[in-house]
Amino acid sequence: RAYLDNNATTRLDPEALAAMMPYLTNLYVNPSSAAGELFGTAQPLTEAKRCLARLLGAPELADNLVLTSGASESNSWAVHAATAGRGRGHIVATAIEHPSLMAAFESCRDAGWDVEFASPDEHGCVAPEAVTALLRPETALVSVMLANNETGVIQPVADIGHLVRDLSPSALFHVDVTQAVGRISISLNEDLIAADLVSLSGHKFHGPNGVGALFAADGVRLPPLIYGSQESGRRGGTPDAAAAAGLATAAKLALERLPEMAHVATLRDNFEHALIDCLPELRILGRMAHRLPNTSAFVIPGMNAQHAVEALAHQGVVVAAGSACTSGSPAPSHVMLAMGLSYEEAKSTLRVSLSRETTADEIALAIDCLSTLVRSAL
Ligand code: PLP
Repeated sequence: RAYLDNNATTRLDPEALAAMMPYLTNLYVNPSSAAGELFGTAQPLTEAKRCLARLLGAPELADNLVLTSGASESNSWAVHAATAGRGRGHIVATAIEHPSLMAAFESCRDAGWDVEFASPDEHGCVAPEAVTALLRPETALVSVMLANNETGVIQPVADIGHLVRDLSPSALFHVDVTQAVGRISISLNEDLIAADLVSLSGHKFHGPNGVGALFAADGVRLPPLIYGSQESGRRGGTPDAAAAAGLATAAKLALERLPEMAHVATLRDNFEHALIDCLPELRILGRMAHRLPNTSAFVIPGMNAQHAVEALAHQGVVVAAGSACTSGSPAPSHVMLAMGLSYEEAKSTLRVSLSRETTADEIALAIDCLSTLVRSAL
C-alpha cells in the first residue's frame, strides 16, 4: 500500500502514542484542578506549548500559545479576535486560504464586513503587492497562509507581514502555518516577525487529531469562542492532557527530524520525474514556485480526478483530488480556479503528499498504478 495523503492527515507517531497512554489510563486527575499540578496531569499542557514554541523557532513565546482543537478552531478564533465587538470593517486575505478560513470570512460578510481576496499568480504564489494593493486604513485583519495545502506553494509571508505592519499598523496579521509545520523550518522570530496570530494543527505532523494551537502575540486579545475558566478565561473546557502529551512529543520529533525533509523532497522529485516520463501531458502545479518538500499537485488533462482517487484507493494507493476537505463536493477547488485553471483542469488535478515515513517502494507503487490507470482511461 502507498499512503500519499499526508497533507490531509499523518500517521500518529508511535512515540507520541506512547506519551499519551498514561493520560488515557491512570493519570486522569483533571489538569485544571488543584491536584492537577501535584499528579502531573497539568504538565503536558505546558510541555506542549514549550515544544511547539521551539518548533516555531521562538522558545521564549511558549506563553503566547493556547491549545485548541486544531487549525480550524484556531483560524475561526483568529478571525473572531480581529472582528469581535466591532460592528463591521475590512478584511484582506489570499484567495487560496483553507476552507475553514473561507467559511469564517463568509460569516463575516453576512455580518456586514467587507472581505477582499488577493489572487495568486499562475504558479500559486500571492505577490506581496497583490495583498498591499487591497489594504485600507480601516483594515482589521490580513490573513495569509504560509504554505498552501493543495499545491504546497510557500507564500512570502515575511515580506507581506512587514508591509502590512508599515502600511496598515492597526491590522492584525494572521498566518496559517498548518501545512508548513514539520516540513520546513519556521521562525516566528525571523520569517514571521510581524505575525500577530498563527494557527497550526497536531495531526499534520504525526501528532494526534483534534489538538492544535493558536499563537497570539503580546497585546493581542483573544476573546473566547468557548466560555469557561480555563486558559485564563480565554478557552473553557477541561483540557485534554493526553492530546497535549502527544502533541508535545510530535513537536519534539518534528524538530529533530526536520532534516529528513531533504530526503522527502528527493522522493517527491523522483515521483514527478518518473510520472512525466510516463505521462508527458502531465502538468505540475507550482513547479516554478518555492514549494513544500512533500507536496506534488498535477493536472492530467482529460482525467476525472475523483474517479482516479477511488480507483487508486482500491489498489491501496491513497492520494487526494485537490484538497481532501473539498473532495466529495462537486465544486472544483477554489485554489485551482484562483490560479487560473479551467473547471476541467481543476477537476483533473491530483495531489500526492509525502511524509518522513514515505518509502521509495510506496512511490514506485504509486507511479505504476497511476500511469497504468491513466493510460487505460484516456
Ligand atoms: N489550515 C490548513 C492550511 C489546513 O491544511 C488544514 C487541514 O487540512 C486546516 C487549516 C484545518 O486543520 P484541522 O483539520 O486540524 O482543523
